[in-house]
Amino acid sequence: MAKVLIKDVTKIYEGNVTAVNKVNIVVEDKEFVVFVGPSGCGKSTTLRMIAGLEEISGGEVIIDDVVVNDIPPKDRNIAMVFQNYALYPHMTVYENMAFGLKIRKFSKTEIEQRVREAARILDIESYLNRKPKALSGGQRQRVALGRAIVRNPKVFLFDEPLSNLDAKLRVQMRAEIIELHNRLQATMIYVTHDQVEAMTMGDKIVVMKDGLIQQIGSPLHLYNNPANRFVAGFIGSPPMNFINLQVTKGPKGIVLDEGSFQLVPAPEHAKYLESYAGKSLTMGIRPEDLHYAEQATAPRIKAKVSVVEPLGAEIHLWARTQNNQFISRVGPQHILRIGQEVSFEPVMEQARYFDMETELSIIPVGQVEAK
Ligand code: ADP
Repeated sequence: MAKVLIKDVTKIYEGNVTAVNKVNIVVEDKEFVVFVGPSGCGKSTTLRMIAGLEEISGGEVIIDDVVVNDIPPKDRNIAMVFQNYALYPHMTVYENMAFGLKIRKFSKTEIEQRVREAARILDIESYLNRKPKALSGGQRQRVALGRAIVRNPKVFLFDEPLSNLDAKLRVQMRAEIIELHNRLQATMIYVTHDQVEAMTMGDKIVVMKDGLIQQIGSPLHLYNNPANRFVAGFIGSPPMNFINLQVTKGPKGIVLDEGSFQLVPAPEHAKYLESYAGKSLTMGIRPEDLHYAEQATAPRIKAKVSVVEPLGAEIHLWARTQNNQFISRVGPQHILRIGQEVSFEPVMEQARYFDMETELSIIPVGQVEAK
């Protein structure tokens, strides 16, 4: 059992830098929670405060009902896996994995049993006598994972563990960590700047920016119901398209005007947009919801192709109107040329709307929810 509560936690570094600002997060027992956000958003600092590697300036970190603010890292029953592996170069893989248990005075038999079991899980049994320098990046990262597993900790903390690996290996290790989580049924907190890792790994994602939490929820909840423009643009690749539109209210209801085209919002959205009549707002539409209309009967957006990115399974099509550029996911069978005129039909039920000043979602996105 390991539930982690982060209550009003703040970190102020010397020089009055507020790195983390009154953050509240609940990590349930056995949950895989990902902290994600751009560089400098405070995600590592938050993780390091949970680990005890960074003093907490305000608030409380509570692990299984115990406030751990003043408990030293070694007594928190937590294991951390870092980006740079932090292996001892003069020790073999076996010794690296055994070291933490040795200093905690585990018996030789117990150490042997735990190291062999972890090595088996991670498929590194045949490297146990090698030194880290004789291993590939992926193998080193497995040893770093093994060193955490043998401790049988209450909580695993990961700080960008895959950032040093090449793209292919990253995808493989990502899957291995997910499998490991299922197998160990342990509470895990994982920090990354990569939204794909967050989406694919997390039961719950915490999106941060400038030391503040932007939104917490399951990957699909955040994808479908972003609370603000930042989350909308950060989660999803290729990113959501944003268009600034002038709102007018005519005899037939709300109309959204781009300058070179007009859109009519879905009926279920229109009532929320009425108060914007006479003002502007930002509409967000994901590339898969901006349908390429080859023979459009009712073309809504006319644009000129600017870039064609064929990816095999699909094409990422970039096209410009006078005022905007859009990206759309298009089937691989289409033949598209730069400069060609195309039409798009946005799925208006899937459009999201943001206030231009506060950048908050105009349509209520519902309460924070877990998986
Ligand atoms: P992230 O992990 O999201 O990239 P960090 O948690 O490392 O961000 O840093 C958050 C903010 O705190 C950044 O603005 C960073 O410059 C600042 N910061 C981090 N460590 C220190 C430190 N030791 N002293 C002063 N400022 C720091």
